[in-house]
Amino acid sequence: MHLPGNPRKSHVRRKGAWDWTERHANTYMDLCRMDADMPELPEVETVRRGLAPFMEGRRLVRLTLNRADLRFPLPVDFRARVEGHRIERLGRRAKYLVMMLEDGPAIIAHLGMSGSFRIEEGNALGAFHHARSKDQAHDHVVFTMAAEDGSEARIVYNDPRRFGFMDLVEADALDRYPAFAALGPEPSGNLLSATHLAERFRERRTPIKAALLDQHVIAGLGNIYVCEALHRSGIAPTVPVRSLVSAAGRPSKRLEALTRAIREVIAEAIEAGGSSLRDHIRTDGSLGYFQHRFRVYDREGEACPTPGCGGTVARIVQSGRSTFCCPDCQR
Ligand SMILES: [Zn+2]
Repeated sequence: MHLPGNPRKSHVRRKGAWDWTERHANTYMDLCRMDADMPELPEVETVRRGLAPFMEGRRLVRLTLNRADLRFPLPVDFRARVEGHRIERLGRRAKYLVMMLEDGPAIIAHLGMSGSFRIEEGNALGAFHHARSKDQAHDHVVFTMAAEDGSEARIVYNDPRRFGFMDLVEADALDRYPAFAALGPEPSGNLLSATHLAERFRERRTPIKAALLDQHVIAGLGNIYVCEALHRSGIAPTVPVRSLVSAAGRPSKRLEALTRAIREVIAEAIEAGGSSLRDHIRTDGSLGYFQHRFRVYDREGEACPTPGCGGTVARIVQSGRSTFCCPDCQR
């Protein structure tokens, strides 16, 4: 990752670039805490895939802001800086959506605890109004996107609890954006390897559960998928991470199995999200959280699904969060 010699200097007075104010420092700390919670990465990726056909290559002709803040104040001059630009690409980093504008900044969006996007298509005004009056009180930001043929779609951000947030950052400053700068590799990408984890885990006594939730180790992995991956690889959540690394710093077979399990649970959930996507859009055009079937998460007292195990799923509390695991087959 490219890092400038003096980030402070390059940011000074540059409108749109991330400035290192106290507010933003607090934002970052808040986001770090929030990021190990909902939504989980597969949900965000599903939202991205659902929105992409309505955003990529289309022009953001109108941005409607129904309030001045979500979790934090919306960016200064938000409308003026994005209206009229085409969205080149809708990307994702960890649990953040990144809308790359042509000749403009990038819009960063996080769904917080209860955020969702809804797609409304059609040119007739009447078509926009479904029987959703109750929910519409929480429609905070509306992106009106125009396709080349002139047809428009409204992409509505709804968030009853308002823990979501949006920010603007210049495209060339994205790597230095505080919430992104220290993130580890994506759990679904090729950069996540047992060797990477072994480097981070060597000599550390941290329980594996806590280490996997650390966004500096893996970006975007949350409580649910950590529980699932540990169960699938037969590793107890309390195991100190250094026990998964050889004296020479090489990953153990168990760590290799865990790495595979992480990639598998994320890939399977993204696939499940994708297959539910069409139904979501068909019913009410909304994209947000989906319920996925988990093997151990939230299944305290149920039979362990590992073939031949015969154990019972237990719930333990680590650092104030629930961990679901099987004491019989996770060692
Ligand atoms: Zn078991």
